[in-house]
Amino acid sequence: MQHRDDLRNIAIIAHVDHGKTTLVDQLLRYSGTFRENEHVDERAMDSNDLEKERGITILAKNTAIHYKDTRINILDTPGHADFGGEVERIMRMVDGVLLVVDAYEGVMPQTRFVLKKALEQKLNPVVVLNKIDRPNARPEEVVDEVLDLFIELGADDEQLEFPVVYASALQGTSGNEPDELGETMDPIFTTIMENVPAPIDNSEEPLQFQITLLDYNDYVGRIGVGRVFRGKIRVGDQVSLMKKDGTVKNFRVSKLFGFIGLKRVEIDEAQAGDIVAVSGMEDINVGETVCPPDHLEALPLLRIDEPTLQMT
Ligand code: GDP
Repeated sequence: MQHRDDLRNIAIIAHVDHGKTTLVDQLLRYSGTFRENEHVDERAMDSNDLEKERGITILAKNTAIHYKDTRINILDTPGHADFGGEVERIMRMVDGVLLVVDAYEGVMPQTRFVLKKALEQKLNPVVVLNKIDRPNARPEEVVDEVLDLFIELGADDEQLEFPVVYASALQGTSGNEPDELGETMDPIFTTIMENVPAPIDNSEEPLQFQITLLDYNDYVGRIGVGRVFRGKIRVGDQVSLMKKDGTVKNFRVSKLFGFIGLKRVEIDEAQAGDIVAVSGMEDINVGETVCPPDHLEALPLLRIDEPTLQMT
């Protein structure tokens, strides 16, 4: 089986304030993805308020970082239990997770919640023990707490072998031992590269693209965000949308968006493994599959109802 070695898709998960935003900023800065006139502190991850659409979804937050010859898509994940369905859907788009834990605070309720979701999806987490610069940091104890949590949540043997990277996202240092940090983010990047599987490259097969999150923009209307699981999708393609109710609607892909750094940029084509946004169809919903009209094959449906909205 062919893999896209130039690509990794991961979700970043953590208890609130454990340093996700600071870490992604630092990874961006280190990789040089930011141009000089872009300001890291204006980044999207925090400035976007949670934007709900029809009560079921939130604006997708994706950061694409180029490290050497690899593009790493990092998907932000809400930590709060109210967004359980969304967390699950994000986990379906990625091949690994970065679990960030404060080296002083240790395991917290949202650490447990998001880790549980990742383990259920059979993802193998990479653990980042962050805030190692804090004078009261207790990395060894916290790693034990994390291991206990993995065991308690029923992690399988492979998941229990999680790699740990120690970091101060604030200072831009990281390393594979708590007392050997260097002024580099390389250990985090190399650990991601070695532990997160590259997406399968089956771009020659018929398209399968699943709408995982919805977004909206005044200019192009409704936007479906998702992962291309198979094949290719291009601007101008005539495609079919397989609706949840079993009907099929045909439409033309009017625009495709990818991500560079924090920005959404228009692209012409995306292929298996890519996480992209598509516009041109107003009638899309979460979980629906886009495929070629002569090859209708839906992906399994996704859970979309948030716990607070489960009425039926
Ligand atoms: P998020 O909620 O997970 O996105 O957390 P943030 O990245 O916003 O960080 C929360 C707070 O922790 C901020 O005040 C950061 O400056 C601080 N912080 C993040 N990383 C570090 C770190 O490595 N060391 C220290 N001392 N503080 C950090």
